[in-house]
Amino acid sequence: MRAIQDAFPLLQKPKKIFITTHHKPDGDAIGSMLGLYHYLVKKGHHVTGVSPSELPDFLMWMPGVEQLLNFEAESKKCLTALTESELIFCLDFNDYSRTKHMTAQLEEAKQPKILIDHHLFPKLTWDYGMSIPEKSSTCEMVYDFINLFGDNALIDLDIAACLYTGLMTDTGSFRYSSTTATTHAMAADLKQKGLNHSYIHEQVNDSWSFRRMQFLGYVLLEKMEVYTKLNSGLIALARTDTKVFNVSPGDTEGLVNYPLNISGIRFATLITERGDEVKLSFRSKGDFDVSAFAREHFNGGGHFNASGGRSNMSFSETVALFKKILSDIHPR
Ligand code: 5GP
Ligand code: MN
Repeated sequence: MRAIQDAFPLLQKPKKIFITTHHKPDGDAIGSMLGLYHYLVKKGHHVTGVSPSELPDFLMWMPGVEQLLNFEAESKKCLTALTESELIFCLDFNDYSRTKHMTAQLEEAKQPKILIDHHLFPKLTWDYGMSIPEKSSTCEMVYDFINLFGDNALIDLDIAACLYTGLMTDTGSFRYSSTTATTHAMAADLKQKGLNHSYIHEQVNDSWSFRRMQFLGYVLLEKMEVYTKLNSGLIALARTDTKVFNVSPGDTEGLVNYPLNISGIRFATLITERGDEVKLSFRSKGDFDVSAFAREHFNGGGHFNASGGRSNMSFSETVALFKKILSDIHPR
């Protein structure tokens, strides 16, 4: 993979550009995609942004969401845009399979492909890119990309709002260890440009339905298991659990973090039965590498302290397997 600067000549003239991100997109995925979208449009390019799946409700306020296509709903339109594009940007993932139904088409696309991502162990099959696991978020990297191009002055309030969203969500509002001085410097710069940060925090965090809040209460009371001696917490949600509360896709977001609020807990896991698969989310504090854990046991990956994976076994078999593995390790 060549340095991203080597791709700058490709962007000198208006191009048809395709941007995509990972399945079940989060704040960093959509924030980086829309931030880059607005910037490239401002530079005169024709840009199509495609999310591999539906957006969660808490991101529907973002400037430009109405322009995004959802592959699961409009695959034909998305594939036409992909075929007609001259350049492809892949944001916030580093393995084509993370785009689920778009995997083969993206892999086979012959246009120059550019990666901007901060996950561990990239499959570096992209033509150009930035892959920096130390970075707080892909949004911080899109900001760096714009600055590398010498275009800091083009960052308007829409771009700032989009990029701030991923910066904030991927750092847990600036608390995770991935938060650096440059993360704060970027927030300061966006603030100086007039960013309304409290509006964004409110849109992202205070948009819960009463039902979702009740679901959280149920999960904490009935579904959280704590293994004090193993410094670990587990929440396992079967399909029936989410059905009772009519839970929508974004409603399980953040649940995995709750066990870590308990003193002494260093490793938290959320197992959810959804659709035709069982999804696992892992979070840790300190030295326990959940990216390695996800890779080794659950066909996944991610970051050192935040990762995910999946299992093709049944829900109850997956929970049993997880508990067996947990009893053999000792996260600290
Ligand atoms: P989440 O638990 O929020 O779904 O994901 C946490 C982190 O792990 C994210 O950075 C995400 O990209 C990564 N991740 C989640 N699921 C998978 C997976 O199945 N495979 C890989 N490689 N990474 C994942
Ligand atoms: Mn990210």
